[in-house]
Amino acid sequence: MSADLQDKNNTGFFGHPIGLRTLFFTEMWERMSYYGMRGLLVLYMTMGVAGNPGMDWSNVQANAIYGIYAGMVYFLAVPGGWIADNILGYQKAVLIGAIIITLGHFTLAIPLQQTFILGLVFVAIGTGLLKPNISSIVGQLYSYNDQRRDSGFTIFYMSINIGSMLGFAVCGWLGEKVGWHWGFGAAGVGMLFGVTQFILFRHHLGESGKYPNQIKEKTKLNYIRGLGLTVLLIATIVVTGIMGLWSIDPVYFAKRFRDFLVILSIIYFFYLFFLAGLTVNEKKNVLMLLLLFVGAAAFWSGFDQSAGSLIIFTRDHVNLTFGEFTAPVSWTQFVNPLFVVMFAPFFAYLWVFLGKRNLDPNMPIKFGIGLILMALGFIVMIFAVKFALVSSPVGVQWLLLTYLLHTFGELTLSPVGLSAFSKYSPKRYLGQMMGIWFLASSLGGVLAGLLGGEATESGLESISPVFNELVYYYLAIAAVLIALSFFIKGALTDTKAAE
Ligand code: GLN
Repeated sequence: MSADLQDKNNTGFFGHPIGLRTLFFTEMWERMSYYGMRGLLVLYMTMGVAGNPGMDWSNVQANAIYGIYAGMVYFLAVPGGWIADNILGYQKAVLIGAIIITLGHFTLAIPLQQTFILGLVFVAIGTGLLKPNISSIVGQLYSYNDQRRDSGFTIFYMSINIGSMLGFAVCGWLGEKVGWHWGFGAAGVGMLFGVTQFILFRHHLGESGKYPNQIKEKTKLNYIRGLGLTVLLIATIVVTGIMGLWSIDPVYFAKRFRDFLVILSIIYFFYLFFLAGLTVNEKKNVLMLLLLFVGAAAFWSGFDQSAGSLIIFTRDHVNLTFGEFTAPVSWTQFVNPLFVVMFAPFFAYLWVFLGKRNLDPNMPIKFGIGLILMALGFIVMIFAVKFALVSSPVGVQWLLLTYLLHTFGELTLSPVGLSAFSKYSPKRYLGQMMGIWFLASSLGGVLAGLLGGEATESGLESISPVFNELVYYYLAIAAVLIALSFFIKGALTDTKAAE
């Protein structure tokens, strides 16, 4: 790891290492493309929007595909982290990932049904390579005790949200008002900016994340062979599927994928505790990260309703006409990143303020609060549904309030979790542990697709029972997290991790 880039005098980007700028803009464009496209996805797969019909899949199928997609995007972060750790190094993984994402969005821009799934597969694979590894590089820009680390992650979180605002604004408008594939193409153009920017300014990262772990040449060769075979296998499955040689019900697939993710998480944490040879302090940290993992998975299962059940509700039951102007449905997604940018500094300040008075809640408690806010957001939606049952469409204020509460939840949970995983993970498992953080998002994504499908299966009638259930779950998990937080705290310092 390069000492010069971790030097406290390296302050070229708002007082932070100049390499953060490169990562900031790469992530910004990546998220622009990801969220821009994601805002259109379910609308496109179901009946489309006024004046712009989409495909004719049912709400349940479309939500399942959305869930599988969101789940895959984040699940592939696990192999993505591993590949960076062992074969490519983080920097190369980010670059290759960015190129594959660009290809994916341009594939989606082709106005054919057959290439649709292929485009999604490319974006998912590319994001798996990029997303966890770019976050790992952020962590590596700072030495272990550098005070700027957390605020570095806050700045990085800004880039995510500035990117998604751009995406919703541009892709949302083009996709809904001009043509779906224009929206998808715009996401590709955005990502192309991201790739170019990364190539031009990659040198600012210096050695941070440049080299993979030192492993024997022979082992590495075996890894590469195994990887090659896996890619070949996946390619065969995808291509034969596109050719129509096999097909599978998306809901069935989503359910099995969910089961797979649960089992995988259990096995991985079991391995870390019992077989990975961790020190006692490292185990304490992993136990705390496990709690955060459960909280985060539950949280994202609600949060990701935004581009699933909530966007369908918005299209069908929310009034978006203001005078002469009717806003694109996906523009309602814009408020989440906007609120993040507006309120992130406030939350960062709040933790410091409380910290000075020794009142800063520990991480599992913060996650519990995040889930309570998630539940409150859904309670607001339950009211909105009640009103819509009486007279539809309803005003947009319900949605705004729900997204505000969900964003507050996100701000108590997500930047904290990202930073915690980069800091408390056993060092030699860093790439994979960032992958595990994203595995929580993956599980959340699939659950969101399945639950969103159930919620929108029979119009307004089916929404409230599902949202009610969610509220109970979130409150129950929050209670457990808060109760356990008194017993399970991470070991704050760890000599091994501090090396
Ligand atoms: N909004 C954040 C991002 O895009 C977190 C999303 C997630 O982890 N599910 O990075």
